[in-house]
Amino acid sequence: MTQSPVLVPILGDQLSPAISSLADRTPDDTVVLMMEVAAETGYVRHHQAKIALILSAMRHFADELRAAGWRVDYVALDDPANTQSFTGEVVRAAQRHGARGIQVTEPGEWRVRQMMDSWGGATGLRVRILGDKRFVCPLPDFFAWAAGRRELRMEWFYRDMRRRTGLLMDGDQPAGGRWNFDADNRAGPAPGLQPPAPATFAPDAITRDVIELVRARFGHHFGSLDRFGWPVTRADADALLDRFLAERLPQFGAWQDAMLADHDTMFHALISPALNCGLLDPVEVCRRAEAEYHAGRAPLAAVEGFVRQIIGWREYIRGMYWLDMPGMATANALAATRPVPEFWWTGDTPMACIAQTVRATRDTAYAHHIQRLMVMGNFALLAGLDPGQVADWFLAVYADAYEWVELPNVAGMALHADGGRLASKPYAASGAYIARMSDYCGDCAYSVKQKVGASACPFNALYWHFLDRNSDRLSRNPRLATAYATWRRMSEDKRADTLASAEAFLATLEPAAPGWARDQASSKSAA
Ligand SMILES: Cc1cc2nc3c(=O)[nH]c(=O)nc-3n(C[C@H](O)[C@H](O)[C@H](O)COP(=O)(O)OP(=O)(O)OC[C@H]3O[C@@H](n4cnc5c(N)ncnc54)[C@H](O)[C@@H]3O)c2cc1C
Ligand code: SF4
Repeated sequence: MTQSPVLVPILGDQLSPAISSLADRTPDDTVVLMMEVAAETGYVRHHQAKIALILSAMRHFADELRAAGWRVDYVALDDPANTQSFTGEVVRAAQRHGARGIQVTEPGEWRVRQMMDSWGGATGLRVRILGDKRFVCPLPDFFAWAAGRRELRMEWFYRDMRRRTGLLMDGDQPAGGRWNFDADNRAGPAPGLQPPAPATFAPDAITRDVIELVRARFGHHFGSLDRFGWPVTRADADALLDRFLAERLPQFGAWQDAMLADHDTMFHALISPALNCGLLDPVEVCRRAEAEYHAGRAPLAAVEGFVRQIIGWREYIRGMYWLDMPGMATANALAATRPVPEFWWTGDTPMACIAQTVRATRDTAYAHHIQRLMVMGNFALLAGLDPGQVADWFLAVYADAYEWVELPNVAGMALHADGGRLASKPYAASGAYIARMSDYCGDCAYSVKQKVGASACPFNALYWHFLDRNSDRLSRNPRLATAYATWRRMSEDKRADTLASAEAFLATLEPAAPGWARDQASSKSAA
């Protein structure tokens, strides 16, 4: 290296060789900095498998960069000189290498952006923060799309993304003549439905080392490492995608909302942990799915449904996060204050749907969308759980959870804490929805058919309790008109019984012990 280098910090969710911070760099005057820091591993008590996944993927990526000729300065978690924060390590590395500047790709999270914005002052160097090209929609374009619109609905944004990428387009028209095939998707589970086993990847030596490190340092965090099988390299992530395309994509749409106790992952892709840390490229994933449609191996409804999740929902969610932060983190439009109950962490509840979802989450750091939205999210909404605590839970327990994607899904989609910016009506449902979409209720201590009383499914009375206590805020929503009309038509006695049944259930909820989600001393802004 002939002159002082440019320092390129690469974060744990930027593990893509095509990352914009490296695009115009050459190895001869660049030092890549990768940092394992306790501020990130511990700002919430992440699931042990999530920490193992990210640290192992980082170590593999560092090797990949070195093999491609880059000079990588890798600061390990147990390096005695490690200051354990991004800013501390950037300052140290800038001095160590006599850097002449810093170049970095914008972070996923608002919290980290605040840190990056301080690096110029902390180092005295020019810091160039580049857009993250792995997303289809640059943030300024999203802000321009949102400006002046009264309603920011995903569907309109999604059509723009289809036109922008050309995915599933016939000229300027959508393939098959429709933008959205949702009406063909989302059935309840058919009798005898047998989803394929999920692809898992045996830990190699690097992953085994990391697993030991995580057990030793983070063994008190939620979650198990016993079944760790997430891909941690690009090759394994590609293999996971291949398996999805071959075995699951054709059925993806039809059973997208279905839940079976013996098949936690159904026909879902399981790619979000790899996508979100950079091992897979979102548009490339969609092009591979589109090719399955063109080859006649997957129906358009399934492929469109899948592509919509990625260039529609995923991009839209990210845009909404950056549009509404930092306010989104404290939004609480329904004034919900109840603590997250202990059984969200232990799974120790007679509610079979929640017990099954918490079990899957603990064992694998994964639950699919409907378990997250219509079991855990729906419960949180109906029971009036505190959005900040619910967001902490979701951020801690899932391998794919980064605040930019977790928070809008929790505050906006699941809890309506954003007052309806993201979803025109709350995703509130009684037990009948879960009974229709799953086989959980058959094994439950509660009866889904029963509406009130100690053995009735708690979702049933909670649903009406939710509508009743939020009637000032929600009763004028046209999409809830039928539900409110039904509630008003019930007799006084029936309404009183229902509310009393819900209150009796709520009184049994034991708040989670402190320390499950965060160290006692840490606060949301501590990282
Ligand atoms: C309350 C709640 C919290 C969530 N938290 C996260 C999170 O922390 N991280 C995360 O990546 N997703 C989150 N999601 C969205 C979604 O549940 C996951 O992306 C999905 O379950 C990941 O599994 P999969 O790869 O098998 O997805 P599939 O169902 O196979 O879908 C394919 C891909 O579409 C994308 N996608 C689908 N729905 C969404 C969505 N609503 N928002 C963003 N991307 C989406 C994902 O990248 C996913 O990998 C959350 C949803 C809810 C309701
Ligand atoms: S009866 Fe109610 S609590 Fe039990 S599994 Fe069904 S929806 Fe869940």
